[in-house]
Amino acid sequence: MVVGDIATGTEVLVIGGGPGGYVAAIRGGQLGLDVTLVEADAYGGTCLNEGCIPSKALIHASDLAYEVEHAEEMGIHARADVDVQGLVGWKDGVVDQLTGGVEQLCKANGVNLVPGRAEFTDSHTARVAHGGEGQGSESIEFEHAVVATGSRPIELPGFSFDGDRILSSSDVLSLDSLPETMLVVGGGYIGMELSTMLAKLGCDVTVVEMLDDILPGYDEDVTRTVRERAEELGIEFSFGEAAQGWEDTGNGARVTTENEDGETTEYTAENVLVAVGRQPVTDTCNVEAAGLEPNENGVLETDDAARTDVEHIFAVGDVAGEPMLAHKAYREGHVAAEVIAGEPTRLDYQAVPAAVFTDPEIGTVGLTESEAEAEGFDPVVGEMPMAASGRALTVGEDEGFVRVVADAETEFVLGAQIVAPEASELIAEVGLAIEMGARLEDIAATIHTHPTLSEAVGEAAANARGAAVHTLNR
Ligand SMILES: Cc1cc2nc3c(=O)[nH]c(=O)nc-3n(C[C@H](O)[C@H](O)[C@H](O)COP(=O)(O)OP(=O)(O)OC[C@H]3O[C@@H](n4cnc5c(N)ncnc54)[C@H](O)[C@@H]3O)c2cc1C
Repeated sequence: MVVGDIATGTEVLVIGGGPGGYVAAIRGGQLGLDVTLVEADAYGGTCLNEGCIPSKALIHASDLAYEVEHAEEMGIHARADVDVQGLVGWKDGVVDQLTGGVEQLCKANGVNLVPGRAEFTDSHTARVAHGGEGQGSESIEFEHAVVATGSRPIELPGFSFDGDRILSSSDVLSLDSLPETMLVVGGGYIGMELSTMLAKLGCDVTVVEMLDDILPGYDEDVTRTVRERAEELGIEFSFGEAAQGWEDTGNGARVTTENEDGETTEYTAENVLVAVGRQPVTDTCNVEAAGLEPNENGVLETDDAARTDVEHIFAVGDVAGEPMLAHKAYREGHVAAEVIAGEPTRLDYQAVPAAVFTDPEIGTVGLTESEAEAEGFDPVVGEMPMAASGRALTVGEDEGFVRVVADAETEFVLGAQIVAPEASELIAEVGLAIEMGARLEDIAATIHTHPTLSEAVGEAAANARGAAVHTLNR
């Protein structure tokens, strides 16, 4: 049946059902707003369908397979027989459970769900082409809009994603079988997480990175710990080389790279993962018709209320710029909905944590020592090596450290860098400390459960005060 054009109206139109959009929609519904959420593809967006959740599911499973095969020193001798289709099927089940949950939560909070692609026709109207042929369209008049269209992987010139030889991160999360060899172009967090996962499952991985180290933006001792561990896992690195082009060899790809002196190198691999960053999506919804103009990086700039230059239109999540992280999108979604509902909520970016799910994991929040100096603080730093953590030794993962940065005079906690097992969880304590305006003593005097990895956070704070007992004070 062909459904013709219909005209409807809503108080708040949310475009995109990823972490930014669905949170804005649910929070808006909770606050009594009349909300319509339009999603072109799958509820949960990149995060639930081809990002955070599927990658962490596969990373966990690869850890399990690797650990079971490498526990001889604990007296465990076993082989892991990994069935890739079974593994991907399990991951898909996790994704389905969560995406179904998002849909249900939206409905339970009174959000009107419209499947299809929304395009602005002017600053108060959008047209939704309903999914499926002959399904017609809907013209929706809105009082406020929230643009939450997310981001997509950047394609390198000459390396169009074909899902066959040249893969995006999404392709790698849904492989039918494990390639014997993989060339990973890009040593950022997505490249490093997926390289580690593939290497643990038995794939020979080579990472080619244009810069001179992995994970740009992290301190040298943080990246060194992760890089050395990756090398132990068999991952090879080539730095200072840019991928220039590739050809199909029949059973793989031959990739040519070039360094800054113009010297070329060739690599062959069954598949190539290109993970060189992500770019905001603004070309799906005709933002210009609403009076919005992306900046030179394609980002819709916003103020601390998540509001764009157009008073009644908000932008949240990846489309609103870095850091492109799901929890930042959640927060912006909350703020946009609350501001629209008339609440005095504002964004505060001083304690946005970030985690990299490598081996070991990285967790960071707030300022590093050098950033604190650059901001005019006189920082004091405390550290606890994981090799001195009883719990780290009991789980056989004692690489890394916890570093806490505070202002020397006031002892206000300014930041932390953690490289450790479960660093993604441990960092939450320091995020809370910053959020609450806590001092070093507050963390140091908190009684942490023994034996846990979190004790290392307490010890690092005590170390900054010269009062650590399980490690030498600085
Ligand atoms: C491999 C990978 C791993 C990641 N791991 C992590 C992690 O561990 N932790 C973390 O915090 N972040 C992680 N991220 C990043 C995280 O996924 C994103 O930051 C997050 O999904 C951004 O949410 P969003 O709502 O802005 O956009 P998205 O999740 O991208 O959602 C945007 C939605 O908008 C829809 N859409 C676009 N245009 C239209 C239109 N015109 N009409 C209707 N719908 C439209 C899209 O279909 C999509 O569903 C990862 C990303 C990747 C790729």
